[in-house]
Amino acid sequence: MVPRMKPALRRGWRDLNTVQFGMTPAHAMTLGPMDQATGDFLDLLNGTRGLALLREEARGMDLPEGHVDALVDRLARAGLVEDAKGGGPAADALRGKKEVMDRLAPDLASLSLTTSGPDDAISLLSARRSLRVQVRGAGRVGAVLAALLSGAGVGEVDVRDWGRVEPGDVAPGGLPAASVGERRDTAARRAVSAAAPGRPPRRASRTAAGGEDPGFSLVVLAPRDDVDVHAPAMAVAEPLVRSGTPHLYAGVVEATGVVGPFVLPGETGCAGCLHETRTDRDEVWPRLVAQWRSGSGPRSARPCDLALATTVAGLAAAHALAFLDGRVPSSAGARWEVSLPGLNWHARPVWPHAACPCGAAEKGKGEHTSKEEAAHETMAVQGSSEESCRKATAPRPAGTWRAHV
Ligand SMILES: [Zn+2]
Repeated sequence: MVPRMKPALRRGWRDLNTVQFGMTPAHAMTLGPMDQATGDFLDLLNGTRGLALLREEARGMDLPEGHVDALVDRLARAGLVEDAKGGGPAADALRGKKEVMDRLAPDLASLSLTTSGPDDAISLLSARRSLRVQVRGAGRVGAVLAALLSGAGVGEVDVRDWGRVEPGDVAPGGLPAASVGERRDTAARRAVSAAAPGRPPRRASRTAAGGEDPGFSLVVLAPRDDVDVHAPAMAVAEPLVRSGTPHLYAGVVEATGVVGPFVLPGETGCAGCLHETRTDRDEVWPRLVAQWRSGSGPRSARPCDLALATTVAGLAAAHALAFLDGRVPSSAGARWEVSLPGLNWHARPVWPHAACPCGAAEKGKGEHTSKEEAAHETMAVQGSSEESCRKATAPRPAGTWRAHV
């Protein structure tokens, strides 16, 4: 091990023998008692010396025998050090690509704050390069979202859409003005490539004709159509549920941005569950959806605020990355929504529904209590993979769990 104090954490002495690492309540931690000599020694933990050399340096500083090993062990258990050479062959390969590493350095530093093991951050970042994600929809939300995932190190981001780029699709970070008139999927794939110079070569598509590709770690549904955002169709999600493919919804409807639900098939509420719950609460819901879908109104440009769309793309990409890094994001079993002009984010639960064939309700049976919030928390834990229980990624404000149709 070649220990390095996590550079992401700023250091400050709270008093003569207590050090605070980090600034924000989410990640800061204090360590004490620590004498001045040990505090000075921390400067040597900068990723240039292995343990043998550090022990030698410690002897020169008159630190007691065994002090270095005990200190490094203590710092490692507190999640404050990383291994400058750790992470295995995939990490070594990534470290060998200097330009890519330089570009992703802030992302790596951020990952070092949300993980504790000395080689967790570099392992996750290098693992992203072998992942395949599909984004369906290349409008203001989808194209930006796809480029973000690619830029954040996801190895293969496949974008699907139809038609040609219209002026209203253009967005910074997504489809450029120069692409107006081109095929949407082609233009979006170019935006994905441009976001990540040096990414791994694209593998041949394994999609069988007419079938679902089993190889995607995640599918993001970012429809340009506002009805599809507000009332996602089960027919679209059904093959994903059947194949057990995790999927995430994101989009803008009217002046509301939506991220979620993140669907773990058979474990958390899906589009079908959402539809059934809304129908329970308002029996005319299916009638309304049918009218919206029939599109009898004027075919004018649908509302989609550029800043709101970009915000949705960014938040959805963060939820997607949290999942790809082994967590369950707070959009699992919930839709995060934000409306202009107030811009207060809040989450609405998407409960598993017994009438939905996805099976999430069956799995969650007996775990729900009469209290909505308690039940939701139970479900969130139940829906988590072992790895993902380490930390929730977003707070759920109390009092926002209103019934929603
Ligand atoms: Zn369902």
